[in-house]
Amino acid sequence: MDLAAAGQRVAMVERGMIGGTCINVACLPTKTLVNSARLLALARRAAPFGIDLSGTPTVDIDLLHAVRHQCGGQHRDGPVCPQPSRAVLGGTPG
Ligand SMILES: Cc1cc2nc3c(=O)[nH]c(=O)nc-3n(C[C@H](O)[C@H](O)[C@H](O)COP(=O)(O)OP(=O)(O)OC[C@H]3O[C@@H](n4cnc5c(N)ncnc54)[C@H](O)[C@@H]3O)c2cc1C
Repeated sequence: MDLAAAGQRVAMVERGMIGGTCINVACLPTKTLVNSARLLALARRAAPFGIDLSGTPTVDIDLLHAVRHQCGGQHRDGPVCPQPSRAVLGGTPG
């Protein structure tokens, strides 16, 4: 990344999804799900504090996973995405 930022031509070899484990299947998706669960728990405990959410908050699981995918996509398309000075080669080295 630093070499590409410095204008060097860089080739990245990736057999899976750009961004690796953390962005695609580990840290980021799990934290997105944890944040959704935290928001739900807060909403369910809001009434005694004067917040009327009119009914029991429910989970839209499809939307929840869409948000998770969207967050990953923003990272893949952001700092780790291919730039003109970076070529991404699918497969394995050697
Ligand atoms: C559920 C879960 C939650 C986590 N949460 C956190 C967290 O909150 N905070 C934290 O710090 N860490 C967390 N981790 C750990 C974190 O995901 C890893 O430490 C981190 O992803 C390791 O980064 P890496 O670049 O070494 O490897 P990876 O992210 O695995 O990247 C390696 C990449 O190289 C590619 N690759 C490997 N071999 C080849 C090959 N021969 N040819 C081509 N491509 C290849 C792989 O496809 C992959 O994309 C979590 C892990 C899990 C499983």
